[in-house]
Amino acid sequence: MVRFTVLASGSKGNSTVVTGGHTRILVDAGLSCRELFRRMALAGEDPATLDAVIITHEHQDHINGLAVTARKLGIPVYFTEATHRAWVRWLTPRRQMTYAQWLEQCRKQAAERQAEAQAAECGCDDAETETAADFDPVISAEAAAVEASPAGATPKAPDARIAREKPDPSWLPAVEFFEAGRPFRIGDIAVSPFTIPHDASDPVGFVFEAEGARMALATDLGYMPPNVKAQLKKLDLLMLESNHDLEMLRDGPYPWQVKQRVLSRVGHLSNDTAADFLESAYDGQATYVILGHLSESNNLPELARVAAERALSNHASLLANRLVLAAQDEPLSPIHLS
Ligand SMILES: [Zn+2]
Ligand SMILES: [Zn+2]
Repeated sequence: MVRFTVLASGSKGNSTVVTGGHTRILVDAGLSCRELFRRMALAGEDPATLDAVIITHEHQDHINGLAVTARKLGIPVYFTEATHRAWVRWLTPRRQMTYAQWLEQCRKQAAERQAEAQAAECGCDDAETETAADFDPVISAEAAAVEASPAGATPKAPDARIAREKPDPSWLPAVEFFEAGRPFRIGDIAVSPFTIPHDASDPVGFVFEAEGARMALATDLGYMPPNVKAQLKKLDLLMLESNHDLEMLRDGPYPWQVKQRVLSRVGHLSNDTAADFLESAYDGQATYVILGHLSESNNLPELARVAAERALSNHASLLANRLVLAAQDEPLSPIHLS
């Protein structure tokens, strides 16, 4: 069975479940663990059957619930090494050790946890849940922000004491590294990661292939470079960013610098740029085209839809393209490809 279930898409959180054969992958964990599980239940997906989490990049809307979710399910997380490093630094900004030292510490902690788990056969779940909740990245980031307040500010001694006593907040059940441009497998799903232009350490999009069905996810990219266009061919499903309407962004509420960032070549794809791709470089083969990562401040679903529909209407295979808009606040119904 091949299935693509968008749980959330947008600047408040991104997450999708990709199913192929007997394997289920959570792509990004941008919602809290609790909300991820709630949306999976709404969409008819069972969190307990997930085999792995895979991360596109370290921005908060893609990793917000990562540590808690991976620990709760006891499943591996796939990153590029640079993205993993950026995520660790984001979680532990006060850490005074090299990355190599940190890896060594993780190995030791993993061995200790394994020994503890073997020693105690029951009662682990509750303890793990509480511990994991303590390390919600948002809470950690807020605590870090308080502790990193400028010189002269009142020191927050209690917070510092708690931070020292906590185990490593970036601990995960298992970490697997992949590289953009090097395809690999997770169970029954072949994964092809490709580099995307975005202001993160090592951001990627993915093509997933299972049982002959090809699905691509390309959001969070400032423009459409040739390597991305080359990946988005012969697909059965394409999820493409359609982030903003240019006029709404220019006239909208964002500060000038944020507007420049969104508009830049490492920002986000506009409705027009997405439509240009769909009209000119896209081969028109996907049965489903999902528009994702729509801005709530600088876009309207109808503007994104009209731009994409107009572009797709130039393809002879229009009837084969079913256009779907992903939402921020609710999951899409699962899309079945076989
Ligand atoms: Zn991003
Ligand atoms: Zn994003």
